[in-house]
Amino acid sequence: MNNLAITIIQSNLLWENPEGNLEHFDQLLKEVPSGTDLVLFPETFNTGFPVDPLKFAETPDGPTLNWLRTKAQELHAVVCGTMLLNVDGHYHNSLVWMRPDSSYELYHKRHTFAIGGEKEPIESGTESLIVTLNGWKIKPMVCYDIRFPIWARNQYLDGTFDYDLGIFLANFPSSRIFVWDTLLMARAIENQAYFIGVNRIGDDPEGVHYNGDSQVISPKGEVLANTEPDIEAILSYTLDYEKLQIFRSKFPVGRDWDGAVTQTSQIRLDCHVAPQSSAPRNDGRLSIFSDEYYMRQAFKEAELALKAEEIPIGAVVVCNDKIIARAHNQTEMLNDVTAHAEMLAITAAANALGAKYLDECTLYVTLEPCPMCAGALEHAHIGKVVYAAEDPKNGFSKYGNMLHPKTKLVTGVMKEECLALLTDFFKKKR
Ligand SMILES: [Zn+2]
Repeated sequence: MNNLAITIIQSNLLWENPEGNLEHFDQLLKEVPSGTDLVLFPETFNTGFPVDPLKFAETPDGPTLNWLRTKAQELHAVVCGTMLLNVDGHYHNSLVWMRPDSSYELYHKRHTFAIGGEKEPIESGTESLIVTLNGWKIKPMVCYDIRFPIWARNQYLDGTFDYDLGIFLANFPSSRIFVWDTLLMARAIENQAYFIGVNRIGDDPEGVHYNGDSQVISPKGEVLANTEPDIEAILSYTLDYEKLQIFRSKFPVGRDWDGAVTQTSQIRLDCHVAPQSSAPRNDGRLSIFSDEYYMRQAFKEAELALKAEEIPIGAVVVCNDKIIARAHNQTEMLNDVTAHAEMLAITAAANALGAKYLDECTLYVTLEPCPMCAGALEHAHIGKVVYAAEDPKNGFSKYGNMLHPKTKLVTGVMKEECLALLTDFFKKKR
């Protein structure tokens, strides 16, 4: 197995100045040693944190992502940083994993820092990302994620670990740097993996000071390399794969780890290789995602419908803990009485799976389906339906159970909120 040469760019960030930041990083990148496999930037390296996403979020064809593409080509290395991204109208703090061949992966920050102003319309991501580079399995995460051990947790199954290197790209303030140091070390020890933390320096206009403290931690919890505080630094280090293997085999704690999984991790490979087998991994192990969690996602879709002056009903379809389709009512926009959230979600889910039957899937919808949608769900052999509010007037249940006999049904999740959205809408219409 190859070693992995990484370079950390610990830098100041110019506030709300993408052009200035990219120019500054252009200069810093001149010092990256050749042979580097992976170059890492602090969180929101093009704008600082947090800024107004409506003003600063770029689309995937915007200047910052294109700049990352160019840099990856020039450096013959993967470059990795986070930015506010607008993906089809959904705003995220997105980590971009840009390869030299211009292919890339996105990880939308799971734990948005609402306490610090990272809130609506920025949405939390729902999927973790594991990528491979030089044969290393790498799990990149963002800043506040460091406080959530279940999200970061490694898995050991049949002699293999889910990942070998964990990364946090951050804007972590100096006032809480003790937390950063402690948790970075803890994440490395508890997951038997190398960890890298990349943090910014300087001050932002809100008076928050950042002192850097970027570092590389060994699977034993030792600090292998770190930057001087409060200065811009280019820190390069080569991670040794053999040392990791030896440590894991001499001290095989992984075998004793508890078996709960967070979600289905999809490993995405270096060069356009198809994702690993999508076999379900929910073999009796726990999932942190509840019906309420997914209903909240359906609720967000309903809110989008409301913004578009459609009847606010939203739906998502989930397969193996992963959202594979999102939709909201679009009868007005499409001029189509069949364009109910459920109908659109069923079609999108079948497209995502490349299969017409959805027996492994759950549909979450904010209102009891009508007979048309219930019929479609029956045809799709949907595994489970969860709806929030009952619809005594137009719901399917007054006709008896129209769903497939094997379909599980759960009702009443987030009932009040979903109903309130509809009631308000109709009040205003009158
Ligand atoms: Zn319907």
